[in-house]
Amino acid sequence: MTQQLIDQYGRSIEYLRLSVTDRCDLRCNYCMPEGFKDFNEPENWLTFDEIERVIRLFGELGTKRIRITGGEPLVRKNLPELAARLAALPGINDLSLSSNATRMKKQAAALQQAGISRINVSLDTLKADRFKNITGGKLEKVIDGLMAAKEAGFHPVKINMVVMRGVNDDEVEDMVQFCIDNDFTLRFIETMPMGDTGRGASLQYIPLNEIHDRLAKKYTLVKANMNGGGPARYVRVEGTDLRIGYITPMSQHFCDTCNRVRLSVDGTLYLCLGQEDSYPLRELMRAGISDDELKQHIQKAINLKPEKHEFSDKPEKLVRFMSMTGG
Ligand code: SAM
Ligand code: SF4
Repeated sequence: MTQQLIDQYGRSIEYLRLSVTDRCDLRCNYCMPEGFKDFNEPENWLTFDEIERVIRLFGELGTKRIRITGGEPLVRKNLPELAARLAALPGINDLSLSSNATRMKKQAAALQQAGISRINVSLDTLKADRFKNITGGKLEKVIDGLMAAKEAGFHPVKINMVVMRGVNDDEVEDMVQFCIDNDFTLRFIETMPMGDTGRGASLQYIPLNEIHDRLAKKYTLVKANMNGGGPARYVRVEGTDLRIGYITPMSQHFCDTCNRVRLSVDGTLYLCLGQEDSYPLRELMRAGISDDELKQHIQKAINLKPEKHEFSDKPEKLVRFMSMTGG
């Protein structure tokens, strides 16, 4: 009989977001503090063997979907090799990747061959100077990376845009057109108060129903479904293939259907993006526990999954910022 991970609120945990590094070549100002250098040391990173082992056990416990993330996952060396090892594990039937795409141009084909089926790319603006202001990096590299992903055969390629008032909200329609022209899927995300950086950006928070109402004046938007859509609610722009997803952790949270946990690069399981509950697995693994024992610890960790985040009630509570957990 296949085992299942069920938390104390009856939610089945089928989805794991795996952070392969907390480092990043960009510094998006809502994510990582400027000049931040206090990263995990390499000896604390789970090795590929350790990652493969944990994911194999999650697979045996009913986890079907893995998303590789970070920090920026493509800064971890030999990522396609890890992806191929994970894609080959029994029970794992959906392996996807979140990336900023700065290094995608070189790696897109190898990632495709490794068995990654879907890619999400962060892109908040189509203006080079703005991109520089928000991320510290070069827009051109991301556009090249996006095109390389498309050419390598990834479909859909989803663009994640964090919408911020007075920063990039005037570009929502341009981004819609860009995605129509390039056959990308577009998702808008509300800023979350994660760490000081996220809390700073939350000053520019926009509830996404505002964006939806604005777009509905220009386009006919019809309800749509999307495979692997996660918590996003989708509409399609009539007369086009474009799907737009709204991810609304703040204005309309989706905690009651949350099916995911996060494993950070140092082997800590985080049970909720918006809470501090966590369970360290690395030292246990390095102490030589058996697979069965490790599975019992995973189940114990799942029992700690809180009912809901407290971003709105206690925005000051969360000191971790996004790239530490694995967004
Ligand atoms: N580096 C990769 C990327 O940017 O896609 C993967 C990791 S990144 C932490 C994952 C997602 O978290 C990105 O889409 C990013 O926009 C989002 N993110 C980071 N900090 C956030 C915040 N404070 N509020 C909302 N989204 C945030
Ligand atoms: Fe890096 Fe992604 Fe965070 Fe931007 S959102 S700083 S690209 S980890």
